[in-house]
Amino acid sequence: MKKILNYIGGELIEPASGKFLSNYNPATAEIYSLVPDSDEADVAKAVESAQRAYAEWSNLPAEIRYEKLIKIAELISENLDLLAEAESNDTGKPKSLAKQLDIPRAASNFRFYATAIMHFGSESYETIGQAINYTLRQPIGVVGCISPWNLPLYLLTWKIAPALAAGNCVIAKPSELTPMTAFLLSELCIKAGLPPGVLNIVHGLGSKVGATIVRHPRIRAISFTGGTQTGKWIANQAAPMFKKLSLELGGKNPSIVFADCNYQIALQTNVRSSFLNQGEICLCSSRIFIEKDIYEKFRDDFVQKVKELKVGDPLDPATEIGAIVSKTHMEKILSYIDLAKEEGGRILTGANRMRVEGRCENGYFIEPTVIEGLGFDCRTNQEEIFGPVVTLQPFDDENQVIQYANSVSYGLAAMIWTENLSRAHRLARQLESGVIWINSWLLRDLRTPFGGIKNSGLGREGGFEALRFFTEEKNVCVKI
Ligand code: NDP
Repeated sequence: MKKILNYIGGELIEPASGKFLSNYNPATAEIYSLVPDSDEADVAKAVESAQRAYAEWSNLPAEIRYEKLIKIAELISENLDLLAEAESNDTGKPKSLAKQLDIPRAASNFRFYATAIMHFGSESYETIGQAINYTLRQPIGVVGCISPWNLPLYLLTWKIAPALAAGNCVIAKPSELTPMTAFLLSELCIKAGLPPGVLNIVHGLGSKVGATIVRHPRIRAISFTGGTQTGKWIANQAAPMFKKLSLELGGKNPSIVFADCNYQIALQTNVRSSFLNQGEICLCSSRIFIEKDIYEKFRDDFVQKVKELKVGDPLDPATEIGAIVSKTHMEKILSYIDLAKEEGGRILTGANRMRVEGRCENGYFIEPTVIEGLGFDCRTNQEEIFGPVVTLQPFDDENQVIQYANSVSYGLAAMIWTENLSRAHRLARQLESGVIWINSWLLRDLRTPFGGIKNSGLGREGGFEALRFFTEEKNVCVKI
């Protein structure tokens, strides 16, 4: 059985305790590798090696850091197939999706921040006749990056790349449910000649490794993506230590479809935005609001298209929907479907665990599920489900739909479907959301600020925002 190892001080090593956890393939429900069950001792060792590496790494010219990061990006691209299959085996997502989305994006993350650091500047102000002030932007030191299971390599590298580019040394913790691509990344970093200790990846449980990273006094910033409850706990621990915090948390995203939309594009994209990656993307639409005039037609066409989605073996190139990441998460999603029924929801399609023939017969599959007939304020429409479940709700006018859309505690992403430009801009201003897509979804430009408001997070990733997060500003005032 393959053993995943920690990456500490440039070496691949077993956890201090010698203990390992089982890693399941959710499509087959079989254990296929072992993950280090690391603890405080491993984090302490990683912090020591990161501190040793910091003096040199933080003082390198940006161009040298650029060269190392670009090399890692190239190696990720060269290993596309291997990494995509590993991501699929860990998460249950279709390999074709990992090949088209997750892994190319991980390479882009390194490429983007390798080049961004070459163009990263800071302000200066002249007080005429008296002084010149300039701002130094210096790396923070040793920083912690904690990421979830849904887009494992994509989200881990979205943090690691800017942190390293800015000159920090990193202690990273992937989700213990999906550690394989992070392990393969550590092999690629060794191959790329990344100096020992610059990046350390410590595998294990959130409650042990994650919590130790959060509390460690010498880790000065935490960049976290995950659930809102975990984010709350982290904020609670980190705030009294005055750590810098970036929190990307949950969502309950509305998609608002007006009668004047480009119907076919809206229909196809809403199917994709609801069910891509089994609905396990923080940006997925989970509440679709449809203007009354087209409600019945849109609903029937939507349900028809959802029924045509191919759920199956993630390694089959024809598969569109794979397995849910774990048994526990599958059960949570099914319990939300039961709740929706209790709350008076009508199931239009789906709602059951699905049996897939062959090697995946024991896998954790759920039929893509569409529900109507629920009020905007019931629990099904307020709480994050994070699976292949979407609700449909009719609305009368703009004011009503804004009230419905903004009624949740989250504020991550919102989609607006209309050909009326004025209305689109009007709504974009009024929706409580960090990311707005008009007539599109998941159209990303890495230069833009990314993040949520309300319970969806704190701070922004992306573009120079991430480089600002991973640096401290120091103002230098020179009297003339
Ligand atoms: P969790 O919050 O459970 O876990 C996220 C990461 O934090 C994992 O690595 C986890 O480790 C770790 N962790 C758990 N407890 C602690 C702790 N006490 N201290 C430090 N680290 C800890 O989220 P999920 O993995 O279940 O991910 C799904 C959630 O992520 C959803 O709510 C989703 O909306 C959100 N998300 C947000 C995104 C955004 O950009 N806003 C993007 C993608 C997902 P372990 O797995 O070992 O428990």
